Amino acid sequence: MRYARVIVGMNHPQTDRVFDYHIPEAFQDEAKEGVRVIVPFGRRNTKTEGYILSLAEESEIPLEKLKDILEILDDGRPIFTPQMLHLAQWMKEHYFCTLNQCLQAIMPTGIKTKSTWQVLLNEAADVSACKGGELAVLEALKEMGGSGALSELEKLLGSGVKNAIQQMQKKKILYLKQKMIRSEYKMEQRFYSINNHTSLWENTIKKVETDKRLSGQKKLLHLFKEKSEISLEEIKKSGIGESPLKTLLKKGILKERIEQIKRAVFSLEDYEKTTPFFPTAEQRAAIEEIEYQIDLEKKNPILLHGITGSGKTEIYMQSIAKILAMGKQAVVLVPEISLTPQMMERFISRFGQAVSITHSRLSAGERLDQWKKARDGEISVMIGPRSALFMPFSDLGMIIIDEVHDNSYISDITPKYDAREAAKFLAEDTGAVLLMGSATPDLVSYHKARQGEYILLELKERTGGGTLPKMQIVDMCKELEEGNRSAFSQILQQEIAINLEKAQQTMLFLNRRGFATFVSCRSCGHVMRCPECGISYTYHAKEDILMCHYCGKTVESPRNCPECGSKYIRYFGTGTQKIEEEVRRLFPRANVLRMDLDTTMGKNSHNQILEAFRKGQADILVGTQMIAKGHDFPNVTLVGIMAADTSLNTGSFYASENTFQLITQAGGRAGRADDSGRVYIQTYQPKHYCITHAAEQNYKGFYEEEILLREMMGYPPFGAFCSVVVSGEVEEDIANAADVLGGILQTENRGNSYFIMGPVPAMLFKFRGEYRQRILIQGHDEDPLVQFVAKCVEKGEQKVGKGIHLQLTRNPLNIV
Ligand code: ADP
Ligand code: ZN
Ligand code: ZN
Repeated sequence: MRYARVIVGMNHPQTDRVFDYHIPEAFQDEAKEGVRVIVPFGRRNTKTEGYILSLAEESEIPLEKLKDILEILDDGRPIFTPQMLHLAQWMKEHYFCTLNQCLQAIMPTGIKTKSTWQVLLNEAADVSACKGGELAVLEALKEMGGSGALSELEKLLGSGVKNAIQQMQKKKILYLKQKMIRSEYKMEQRFYSINNHTSLWENTIKKVETDKRLSGQKKLLHLFKEKSEISLEEIKKSGIGESPLKTLLKKGILKERIEQIKRAVFSLEDYEKTTPFFPTAEQRAAIEEIEYQIDLEKKNPILLHGITGSGKTEIYMQSIAKILAMGKQAVVLVPEISLTPQMMERFISRFGQAVSITHSRLSAGERLDQWKKARDGEISVMIGPRSALFMPFSDLGMIIIDEVHDNSYISDITPKYDAREAAKFLAEDTGAVLLMGSATPDLVSYHKARQGEYILLELKERTGGGTLPKMQIVDMCKELEEGNRSAFSQILQQEIAINLEKAQQTMLFLNRRGFATFVSCRSCGHVMRCPECGISYTYHAKEDILMCHYCGKTVESPRNCPECGSKYIRYFGTGTQKIEEEVRRLFPRANVLRMDLDTTMGKNSHNQILEAFRKGQADILVGTQMIAKGHDFPNVTLVGIMAADTSLNTGSFYASENTFQLITQAGGRAGRADDSGRVYIQTYQPKHYCITHAAEQNYKGFYEEEILLREMMGYPPFGAFCSVVVSGEVEEDIANAADVLGGILQTENRGNSYFIMGPVPAMLFKFRGEYRQRILIQGHDEDPLVQFVAKCVEKGEQKVGKGIHLQLTRNPLNIV
């Protein structure tokens, strides 16, 4: 092939298309689909990293105008499999971003070639004509010793420096040079062996045996009596210094071999091999259905709905074993926060070296090595968070998504892909089985399963036969009536005291999500809601008003409860810190740990706090939903959910669903081993269907009620949302731009198929120095809705001024 169709690694919409390049003779064999290259780009032929999408015999551009590929990276080994290129294309169309952004998300992190510009002074040039800004550049460069990075000069002298540099470049006072920086993260291991081809050998042996000064060399040579090849680590471990080794190498007595190694993320010796359990009847039925799907030509996604402890993980592992026996590979996605040592252990103990793990606590090099193991067929199972979907496996047979309801499957950076949607595409494209599991599936997935779009498999019993903990609802309005104004009900206080007495552990949850502050009555539990959207109002302290973040309706904040007239109006938003303080006051002798965003800023602090608690270093753990997931705490027998209402009134239609999930997960923390677990759900709305069903662990009951509400309001799965955030640095400009876009949406909305809400100030009104307004658009079917909004955004972009960004998000998670 003579030509390569290349995507360049830049993010401008104008460069988001393929460019043809000529393949020089020398690269004929290496230039392949999916390979990383360096190409000259633009008028100045700036060196740029690019990716070959395909090869071609012909090009529409005449040969003399085509540029040559300059360099082939990664020894010509593709960085993208054909499946990953398909996935990137799909993501681009589905999430409205550039193909390059999708390729970057798929590519291992940190390996992209970075380029910088050096500014160099031409010593021989005449600088007498320099003036103003040029003099400043001259001064700075002299200070830097004649050359410096362009970025450094810009930082020093402001962005206006570019002009001066351009002028000086014309006058040949200075010139620019591009520098490419590549992080390879290569890890090498050095090995040494005896160089038999040397006649010096005999002499040396004799010499080191007799000469005391050569005891280091002697010790080193003696090592080779037992092994013909020894690694540098082993030599160091034997207490031999560098110098004997250097000497013997120099003399040619020893020779060196360098091997590229891929770092391991665990050592197999730490794990005992386990064999599969004999499946329970429920498990067997599920496994049989999965096997049936494996053999099908056209497969259906499978939703595995099973209560905590019902043996879902065991089903995953037995299904994976089937896939491996067929010579195929599997990916297991888990929320990062659930990727605990216990979770890893189960997979490693079962599959040994065939499995690897990737997560954000590993270094970029370690992660790259796991990626390479997948590419080179050295492993067959990869476990990790959403990005593990992008492993370059050659024959993917199964994708498992554990805790499929988890919001961390949606990327919060561009491309804002939903790994569940991407997994569905990838499974269809590769013919892999898609297996999703949860104790509390998200409503949309469960609805699809009930409609027959997914296969529904259910596990209703715990494998050990144990029971779920007893859950009790505590009416906090009643507590107030009885004169208890503390955040702790009387019963919870008593129970904590009992646990301290028995040296058993307690977990206290505060289901605080996002930034919402809602308003409710502490006497009757009434929550102030928007009458149009059914969503709870958010309190804005500055203006002392309540606002619906769907439609923008505002009302004055009430002095008395509109339901019962009580003056006990409460502005929710109590933090974990306050709860911690109160626990310490009530139980001064208890050891208390707190875990929330503030205490988990450090890289590994999240796991450290949980491990400390697991090891019994504290009696009480106070935390947000972070502590609800994954970890097994055998000594926790009491769980208190401080105010279930906080997550029930987040101002989002997901609130009930999220609260149900949280209560169920939190409950699962208590007494997994025996039946002594107690859970107390404190709430001002004890009759709310979400609370009552969660207390009974009745997912179906909850689903039946919630789905009716969704249907009535046209919320997913019966409708779809799409949001556009208008952001910019000038508050007035973005308000105007948002109005312009709102106008376009209204005009284009012929036949009123769509419901347009806003613009309203976004929940995070000011974020990283930018003001943000948000428009929410609701429609019946997702794809036409998104097409419609995309069209309007395109029109809007032409009308709004520079410096204003319009960002479209499909299925926005943070609807407030
Ligand atoms: P889940 O993933 O649904 O929460 P797990 O797979 O963690 O459930 O299973 C709960 C416990 O039961 C685990 O300790 C697991 O080792 C054990 N287990 C799973 N399947 C069986 C089985 N068939 N027989 C006995 N124990 C099992
Ligand atoms: Zn009231
Ligand atoms: Zn509203």
